[in-house]
Amino acid sequence: MLVVMRHDASPAEVQRVVDTIEELGYSARPMPGAQRTAVGLVGNDGRVDSARLAALPGVRDIIHVTQPYKQVSREWRPDPTVVRLPGGLAIGDTEVVVIAGPCSVESEEQILDAARKVRDAGASLLRGGAFKPRTSPYSFQGLGEEGLRLLALAREETGLLIVTEAVDPDGVDLVAEYADIIQIGARNMQNASLLKRAGRVGKPVLLKRGLAATISELLLSAEYLLAEGNHDVILCERGIRGFDSSTRNVFDLTAIPMIKDLSHLPIVADPSHGTGRRGMVTPMARAAVAAGADGIIIEVHPQPDRALSDGEQSLYPEQFAALINETRMIAEAIGRGLAAPLPLPVRS
Ligand code: PEP
Ligand code: MN
Repeated sequence: MLVVMRHDASPAEVQRVVDTIEELGYSARPMPGAQRTAVGLVGNDGRVDSARLAALPGVRDIIHVTQPYKQVSREWRPDPTVVRLPGGLAIGDTEVVVIAGPCSVESEEQILDAARKVRDAGASLLRGGAFKPRTSPYSFQGLGEEGLRLLALAREETGLLIVTEAVDPDGVDLVAEYADIIQIGARNMQNASLLKRAGRVGKPVLLKRGLAATISELLLSAEYLLAEGNHDVILCERGIRGFDSSTRNVFDLTAIPMIKDLSHLPIVADPSHGTGRRGMVTPMARAAVAAGADGIIIEVHPQPDRALSDGEQSLYPEQFAALINETRMIAEAIGRGLAAPLPLPVRS
């Protein structure tokens, strides 16, 4: 439930609403916004006496959020969430952000080479898994903490911020020590203990849509993160399981405008996992930006034929450079532009 304040409500009147919600035994989330100031009531079990809140001075309206997800919904917060990252980079603002890098961190040489190449092409963040949730237990599972150290080294060398996955609740704190954004992968979208831990870790989270998850399920998973107090959540469309095996997944472009409509959270697109095929990544990246994605996440490998995971969907660096140029033009055509990489670190 949302208590919407009149535009001339005083801070004392807002505080009185907060105090009343707490007296009723719920938590209050004051939300000053560009369009309105509201106070969210969290944990409504259906027994809240809204008349008591409606009667308080300065209250304009009571809104009952109709969606099963609450804090994630547009009803709760009409203004878009902008996730602010170190160095002034932002996801969910005007500029479209490009995240790129290999599926997995494989060696120092590989990740540094990949980082330099994606940075030179214009990416702002480096992706790379150190903990890999592979379909087969016999496939490469990642370098673990060593992989995280190599990502931190690549950040030092290139200034790229780091996106990397945490696969279990106990691993979240370790990943958070190195990552700028913690990825929660498709296979873990509904891992409630992982979501709860990531909701308390104090770092932004990139939450990928599950292999067969509805949009509503994705938003409910995001609600776990917000309910724990983490509001820096970025959603990711990465394709869903379909009946046609000609692509790895069905890349759901409609999810982008749909999520924009239902939620204030930023949404990025992953056409690499969405299609599973190198030749389809660029057309779908272009389409995703045209559809309103706040960012794209692209697998790029210095030598895709030697990749330890997802080589067949990884772009060659020169293909990625062309992708950036094309998506930049599309972003500009819709009044957005691409975010520039942060300046190179200064060496003494
Ligand atoms: C990945 O980003 O490499 C990955 C494993 O993605 P997903 O969880 O979407 O399969
Ligand atoms: Mn991958």
